[in-house]
Amino acid sequence: MPSRRLGRSVGIDFVPFKTCSYDCIYCQLGRTTVKTIERKEYAPVDAVLKEVEEKLKTIFPPDYITLSGSGEPTLHSGIADIISGIKKISSIPVAVLTNGSLFWIDEVRDAVSGADLVIPSLDAGSQKTFLSVNRPHSGIIFKKMVEGLCTFREGFRGPVWLEVFITGGITDSDDEIARIKALADRIAPERIQLNTTVRTPAERYAKMVNRGKMEEISSFFGRTCEVIADYTKVHEQSEFSSTREDVLELLRLRPCSVDDVSSGLGLHRNETVKYIQELMDKELIWMEERRGKRLYSGYRMTKTEGEK
Ligand code: SF4
Repeated sequence: MPSRRLGRSVGIDFVPFKTCSYDCIYCQLGRTTVKTIERKEYAPVDAVLKEVEEKLKTIFPPDYITLSGSGEPTLHSGIADIISGIKKISSIPVAVLTNGSLFWIDEVRDAVSGADLVIPSLDAGSQKTFLSVNRPHSGIIFKKMVEGLCTFREGFRGPVWLEVFITGGITDSDDEIARIKALADRIAPERIQLNTTVRTPAERYAKMVNRGKMEEISSFFGRTCEVIADYTKVHEQSEFSSTREDVLELLRLRPCSVDDVSSGLGLHRNETVKYIQELMDKELIWMEERRGKRLYSGYRMTKTEGEK
């Protein structure tokens, strides 16, 4: 897929959807369903590498192979083998997009050290705002997380681009921006990239910061900083509500699985999960398991008390 930062990039998604150490209020994928810091082989390394190899045979070589996706990639205990495996089958640079929450663990820093570019996040300047914005797993302490980022930057041979997500009304005050900048200066990445809520967030109160203010913040951060928020995505938010209506309409006609809705409406599976989650939250649709399959519908299939 085209990426503003990375040119043409092939993304590899090897941790299950919304399995993450954070539950960011601005997350465009919705709320985290599995909040964890347990590292394990969420998908077999061999299978991941085989798929990458097959995919690369069918496409024009991209500028980057990006390890990211819909869960936190450093939670995969085989990420080092995935990086080294990709290096054996291709000369395309490997980028890791991570929330950076686990770099205080030696093993995680080592595991990512084979990448060509690492893009971690820093979205808060204090433990308090960290808890509000990132809603981390209880095993992650803000100070320790920042130390981890500093240690990683010192030891990593390649470039580090720090993504800073600014949330309107929470981290866009002058004091908070000054605190984030002081930490970014300590981490000393090659680039700082500012983002804000231009896509539908997990929580409605995660507000967008306008372009003018973002440019001001960028100048304050200095010459290595740029705004990467894609404001064209803001217009797509109205499309979100009309698509959500289509999902609801379909589910009022007949019960469907997530895959049925995806193929029926031509939506990406991740997007479909988000619509379904939102409709479930509003109690406009209900879920029922039938023969091991989760089905959703706009009416109660079995009217059991308290069932959703
Ligand atoms: S934005 Fe990234 S780090 Fe935050 S909850 Fe979503 S997937 Fe996890």
